[in-house]
Amino acid sequence: MNNWTLQKKWTYSAAISIFISFLAMCIILYFSIFNWMLISEKKIAQNTLNEVVGFFESRGPIISIQDIQRNKTLLNQLVNQEQSVRILNSDGIEILRINDASDFPNFSSEVAFEFELQNINNKLLYHNTAEIDFGSFVGYLEISHSLQNFSQLMNYILIAMIIFALIALVLSAFIGYSLSTILLKPLKELRDEMQEANQYKFSKEITFQYTNNDEIGELLTIYKQLMNEVSETITKQDEFIHNVSHELRTPIQVVEGHLSLLNRWGKNDKIVLEESLEISLSEIQKMKKMIEEMLKLAKRENSNEVLETDVSKVLLGLQKKYKSLKPEVTIIIASDLDEVLPVPQTALEQIIQNLIDNAIKYNENKPEINIEVTKSNLYYVISIEDNGVGISQKHLPKIFERFYKVDASRTKIKGGSGLGLSIVHALVKEYNGIIKVESKEHYGTKFNILFPKMTNE
Ligand code: ADP
Repeated sequence: MNNWTLQKKWTYSAAISIFISFLAMCIILYFSIFNWMLISEKKIAQNTLNEVVGFFESRGPIISIQDIQRNKTLLNQLVNQEQSVRILNSDGIEILRINDASDFPNFSSEVAFEFELQNINNKLLYHNTAEIDFGSFVGYLEISHSLQNFSQLMNYILIAMIIFALIALVLSAFIGYSLSTILLKPLKELRDEMQEANQYKFSKEITFQYTNNDEIGELLTIYKQLMNEVSETITKQDEFIHNVSHELRTPIQVVEGHLSLLNRWGKNDKIVLEESLEISLSEIQKMKKMIEEMLKLAKRENSNEVLETDVSKVLLGLQKKYKSLKPEVTIIIASDLDEVLPVPQTALEQIIQNLIDNAIKYNENKPEINIEVTKSNLYYVISIEDNGVGISQKHLPKIFERFYKVDASRTKIKGGSGLGLSIVHALVKEYNGIIKVESKEHYGTKFNILFPKMTNE
């Protein structure tokens, strides 16, 4: 069953369900007809019995056996073609038999008040015995009503129903197959499209067209979204690998250059040795930092942390940390928020720390950073404003890109990798937030981070 195609499953289930419903209907119908006809047959037999008894009663209170025999022709007309009637004396000896269409069971003097269904010589019949008392004659009247015609008719009906059921089975299989072919066609086309996409390593455009708003339409929409995401991820990955290799190649080349310099003739020159070692170490430090940041970025993408953080606690913690690490930096916090933010603590710490680091790094004054936390109808807002060098308008749209540096030489001096803001951006986005930046060269920069309020508020 597991290996069956959807079409096969569909065809079989449609055929079986239609067939079973038809069969159930036939069985109900057959037994209803059976019972109804059996009751009618019983009524006919009962009528004949009443008419024969009535006939004798109409002949007067005293009739002899000769009278009865004389009236045989008249009695014959009362009795139906499928019936036999016989009159027996009190000893059970048959005196008169009218019609011989149906057999009688062995005589028994027990009188039944109802017609009984009996099977004699494999023939179904209704049988009844009544006592008769005509004054000069006392005996029994027996009536046997053959159900041969009824059995034949029921057999015909049964055969007809079996034939119809078989036709229904074939027809339902055919309908099931045709329906599944029509309905599964777009699904098959979508499957082919997916196979092709896989074959062309997701670089092929989706050509499959389907406008209906049903499950297949939904599947196509999801598939398109998925494909866009996949190709976007592939592009980003390519770009990332390109950038990483480029960024790492430079320091490696520098280190390599200095080491070969030392290898050739610098070993004995103390000045060259010291300078080369210092540069190499600093380049290695840079590489280390860059690799750490890249790892953080990659780790973030799979994180699974608790989405509740007390922002004031995080800010106070960072303020304390910078006070001891960099006493020249002033961090002013204004927060009246007594609620928690829908972001994990480590993520929020990393976001704010990266922004503070930049505010200190890209600053030619004594760094002063103002952090304010507020809330609007829909968002919690964290603003981080510095008095640094600022960013010109033409660079602003690009600063969140990976490895983007406004001023490569300045960044180099400051030990930046161009990854800090892209980490911030990725984190904010991951928790459904928005990051905005406004800046004025030589005056400072302000980052606004907006996190949506929880939906149950
Ligand atoms: P890095 O990790 O090298 O600092 P970022 O991604 O954090 O790189 O920043 C990208 C660029 O944006 C930096 O090269 C820097 O010129 C500029 N920048 C970032 N933050 C600030 C800021 N607060 N003030 C001025 N320039 C900034």
